[in-house]
This record gives sequence, structure tokens and C-alpha cells, in this order.
Amino acid sequence: MVATGWRVFLAARLHPVAADVLASAPDVAQVTAEPDLDPRALAARLAQGYHALIVRSRPRVTADLLAAAPALRVVGRAGVGVDNIDLDAARARGVVVVNAPAATTEAVAEHTLALLFAVARRLAEADASMKAGRWDKKRFMGIELAGRTLGLVGVGRIGAAVARRAAALGMTVLGYDPYLTPATLRSRGAEPVASLPDLLARSDVVSVHVPLTPATRGLLNREAFAYMKDGVIVLGTARGGVIDEDALLDALRAGKVRGAGLDVFATEPPGATPLVTHPRVVATPHIAAQTEEAQARVARDIAQEVLAALRGQALRWRVA
Ligand code: NAD
Repeated sequence: MVATGWRVFLAARLHPVAADVLASAPDVAQVTAEPDLDPRALAARLAQGYHALIVRSRPRVTADLLAAAPALRVVGRAGVGVDNIDLDAARARGVVVVNAPAATTEAVAEHTLALLFAVARRLAEADASMKAGRWDKKRFMGIELAGRTLGLVGVGRIGAAVARRAAALGMTVLGYDPYLTPATLRSRGAEPVASLPDLLARSDVVSVHVPLTPATRGLLNREAFAYMKDGVIVLGTARGGVIDEDALLDALRAGKVRGAGLDVFATEPPGATPLVTHPRVVATPHIAAQTEEAQARVARDIAQEVLAALRGQALRWRVA
């Protein structure tokens, strides 16, 4: 006997497989997809009795939105970071929060490497120069990655996937992650360090792979940049706010930082800020997880996880 009548609201653009999985479930009565609603319109729709809400990094799921949705039982985040969801408010209301953290790991790791190569070999500048009709062969001196040291701040799924790739490039990989044992760090291909300053002082490339939390906001601040080697490359594909953008810009201008690859920004979209337009910055608009494969995987994973939560089944990725 199947319980009937779950109503699921998709408040973000998802690969069609999400709606397919949900709509073909015998206990789902309705799947509504309305991305890009403003907060008030979304609250009004949820007030109509939806049991599950699926979002991406937007919209924000605030205490007010949850209060406007009395029937809501589950919030699904199609992706990893849940910093747009008020987890305390969800817990207080008994709303389960799940995400799909494994689906985008390879895509984000590959994008991190793409940014690293682009910065090391100045690909964006060289391409812009070619498109302007020039042949600036002497201008674009790069550096090699083989033999260099990569410092990973955060060695979770993505950090570990970056470590595997960096090893194949002949890089030495260091890892700083206070929540992991030295043995786990080693098993993920990263040599443990004594402290964050130790990692920063020894790395030619520093790449951040931590969630945005009160503890990680501004983790790479002015003090952190001061520990880094001259000519370091800095990569940010985790969340805006982990790297202090003013401190990074000053370090770029001072020549301390050779270049930076950034996919995430403290404010998104950031506009053509001095950081984004700096010639040694390769910037992308939060696209690290935007591959066909990752988006299909994330949509399937979150649809299945939300169904499991509605049915009271065991959950793979419960966040709250
Ligand atoms: P994960 O949870 O597997 O790994 C995060 C790691 O960070 C954990 O091992 C944790 O112990 C560590 N950590 C937490 N606080 C730390 C601190 N203060 N110092 C050092 N390490 C700390 O997550 P993941 O799947 O590897 O994803 C990492 C982050 O990447 C996500 O939180 C998300 O914000 C970001 N992300 C970005 C995109 C994108 O499109 N650019 C896509 C997916 C994920």
C-alpha cells in the first residue's frame, strides 16, 4: 500500500531527470517547477501545502519561508553547500534537510585544475591577446606545475579529488583539515601539515575546499597571505567569503600572489570589480559544477533523496 499525495516544489532550474524521477514515483501527486520566484511569491506557493522543496544555491530558505510552509517536511539542496538554508530554523520546525554532495565532486575538481592551468600558463590573457589580433609570444611566460607543491585547505570529497589529479601532474600535495586524522589525510593523497600557516608557507599553489561557516569565513585573510610564498597561485572554487577578497587583491597588486583562479565570490554576481578585472585573475561565474554529467547526477540524487526523506526511509545525505 503506497501513501499518496506528496507534493514537491522545484524552486530552481534542475536537469529534467529530477522531475522525471519524482513524477514517476507512485506516491507523488504533484511536481511543480517554478524557478526564479521572488521570496514572497515562493512563500505564497509553499503555503498551498507542498511537502518538499528543492533548491540550489538559490533561493534562500529562511526562517520566514519555512514558517510560511506548514506542510513542508523536506528541503532538498541540489548540490553541496547548504549555506543558503537556515538549518537551525529547519530543525526547529522538524523539517529534514538533505543535499546531493557527491554528484559534483569530479566536475569541481576538474574545474579547479582548469583554473590552475589557466593561471599558471596565463591562458585567458593569451587568448584575449590573440583575439585582438596580436602574437605576443614573449609576453606570456608561465610556470610548470610538475615538482611544485599544492596546499589543500580542506580535504573532503573535492579536496581529495583534486589531490588525485595533482599527484598525476607530479605535484607534492599537502593537506590542512583539522577534522581529519593524519592517516585519513594520507589516504586521500595529502601529506598532513602542523598548521594552516605551515601549509601556506610551503605551498606554491593554495586551493580552498572548505564549506563556508563562521569558522571558515575569511580563513585566507591578510595574516594568511603574509604566510604565503612570493609568487603563490591561489584558487577559490569553494564559496565566496572564505578568501578575503580585499586581502587577495592587495596581494595580487603587491606581486605576492602570481595569479588567482576564482569561481566563487563574496557577492554573486560580483560585477566587473577590480579583483575580477585584474589581469592575473581568471574568473568564472560559479560554473565549477556545471557539467552535463554533474547536473544530471545531482538532479537524480536529490530527487531520490527527497523521496526517501518523504517516505521516512534511511537517508544517505541528511544535513539537518
Ligand atoms: P566535504 O564536506 O566533503 O569537504 C569539506 C572539508 O572541509 C571537510 O573535510 C572538512 O573537515 C573540511 N573543513 C571544514 N572546516 C575546515 C577548516 N576550518 N579548515 C580546514 N578544513 C575544514 O565537501 P566537498 O564536497 O569537498 O565540498 C567542499 C565545498 O566546495 C563545499 O562546501 C561547497 O561550498 C564547495 N562547492 C563549490 C561548488 C562550485 O560550484 N564552485 C560546487 C560544489 C561544492
